[in-house]
Amino acid sequence: MNRTEIYLDHAATTPVDPRVLEVMLPYFSKAYGNPSSIYALGREARAALDQARARIARILNCQAREIVFTSGGTESDNLALKGVAFWHLLNGRGRHIVTTAFEHHAVLHSAEYLERFGFEVTYVRPDPDGIVHPEAIEEALRPDTILVSVMYANNEIGTIQPIREIARLCRKRGITFHTDAVQAAGTLPLDVEKLGVDLLSVSAHKFYGPKGVGFLYVRSGTPILWQQHGGAQESNRRAGTENVPGIVGMAYALELAYEELEERNARIQALRDRLIDGILSRIPDARLNGDRERRLPNNVNVTFEGVDGETLLLNLDLHGIAASSGSACTTGSTEPSHVLLAIGLTPEQARSSIRLTLGKDNTPEEIERTLDVLAETVTRLRSLARARAR
Ligand code: PLP
Repeated sequence: MNRTEIYLDHAATTPVDPRVLEVMLPYFSKAYGNPSSIYALGREARAALDQARARIARILNCQAREIVFTSGGTESDNLALKGVAFWHLLNGRGRHIVTTAFEHHAVLHSAEYLERFGFEVTYVRPDPDGIVHPEAIEEALRPDTILVSVMYANNEIGTIQPIREIARLCRKRGITFHTDAVQAAGTLPLDVEKLGVDLLSVSAHKFYGPKGVGFLYVRSGTPILWQQHGGAQESNRRAGTENVPGIVGMAYALELAYEELEERNARIQALRDRLIDGILSRIPDARLNGDRERRLPNNVNVTFEGVDGETLLLNLDLHGIAASSGSACTTGSTEPSHVLLAIGLTPEQARSSIRLTLGKDNTPEEIERTLDVLAETVTRLRSLARARAR
């Protein structure tokens, strides 16, 4: 098997920062207590949890008790949507939910599941640049709307959504607002007061923390029916022994991300711009998907007309370059990306698209090498396709 030498799939996951790993390690071994145990070993784990919660709350500008630890972005999204919907089901209020057509499947499939319980869902389309307009959300609202869920930044095309504006119009009407901030956390501001959100999902493995751990920010007073039953953990909101090393690692990874935010973002954005400019100038019939300005500093999503995206990815892999076609969660399926279709690409264009997402440890040399391999491979695949068509 060849090795990945240039990793350009940071939207799928990131490596754990060695500094993060170091603070996690004691909680696997000598500080292994269960945070619910009353003796010293348990209290040590409890203290670590409390401290992690407080540190995360400081970054979000919220109260520590508004952070609910989960197993990651998928669980946080499921809890937000189902929790609010089922609360309303019990309390006999409205049945209408508004979300967008290009959310992550953790939101989309939760919304579809809720439709089976009688909820009506409006899926608002983003514009061709991948931006959801507040006016489009406003138009979708009804007197019986209970919940709006719009992602902070899209995981495939990296476009950043006008969350504050959308939150403001929800608050004016007393509608709960959730944002999936899984791709935004560690890159964009997370101050929940400034954003005005009620619920916000985060996953640690997108910002150099461990996999399988995340949290849901839940503003005090948000109507929500907790979904996981068992022990009294998380103040009776989410049962199950807490992932102590994971939570400790997540809190530190988030702190590091915000301490180093400006420097990381500037460096990554410069590499991203070099990659975009290089692709558009060197490869004919290539187009960037998603707004060029309102996008995450690390995201490049391009369509190469006449090239099969999967074949291109296999060729990149042979050169030790890791990239992705749309979201990693749909890899293996032949369905074109629902995100690219939602912004108006044809299924064929969607299948000719790839996503390259940069990280803090990529180098200018890696970008130059990627450009060379891309230019050479796209030209070769196109001439092969032309020869086959003859
Ligand atoms: N939401 C978005 C926008 C994502 O990009 C992802 C992961 O790719 C998730 C949710 C799911 O997060 P997790 O992998 O932690 O379950």
